[in-house]
Amino acid sequence: MLDLKSKIRDIPNFPKEGIIFKDITTLLKDPEAFKKAIDKIASFYQDEGIEKVIGIESRGFILGAPVAFRLGAGFVPVRKPGKLPSDIYEAKYELEYGTDTLTIHQDALTPGQRVLLVDDLLATGGTISATIELVKLLGGLIVGIAFLVELAELRGRNHLDGYNVLSLITY
Ligand code: AMP
Repeated sequence: MLDLKSKIRDIPNFPKEGIIFKDITTLLKDPEAFKKAIDKIASFYQDEGIEKVIGIESRGFILGAPVAFRLGAGFVPVRKPGKLPSDIYEAKYELEYGTDTLTIHQDALTPGQRVLLVDDLLATGGTISATIELVKLLGGLIVGIAFLVELAELRGRNHLDGYNVLSLITY
């Protein structure tokens, strides 16, 4: 049985002192592991009638797009400011120092559409909370939220009460 956790590489002190960066490129480059990760996410939500998968820039794109393809859903990117060319909504969120912003196209979803959010990693939950805010602005119905990796001690799940959350690898 292939162990997905064994394919994640720890990089100490990246991008700064004291952070242990969870490097997923070692999983992505392994064809069996990549396929297993995508299959697991897609099969978990396959009976949920997902119409759009939302991937968060940029590692959420790598996972979200193949999950959308497998589910027969459309793909919607949530991007950093200045990247989306048409009319956008934006949501700000807190970082350790300062704030950051995520954006979505105003016409990316129609109200009531069934949506799955996908990102590589859940840490404090700030990124996913901003994405939830954007989807709510558009009236999307959040049917699930999937991560490859969850850093449980940072308690990002506290922001996700009531949602159907899947994480494939937990630390
Ligand atoms: P957060 O908003 O705190 O939940 O952080 C989630 C985002 O930051 C994800 O999109 C990750 O790509 C990135 N991230 C945060 N902490 C780590 C970490 N230790 N290793 C790799 N990526 C991380």
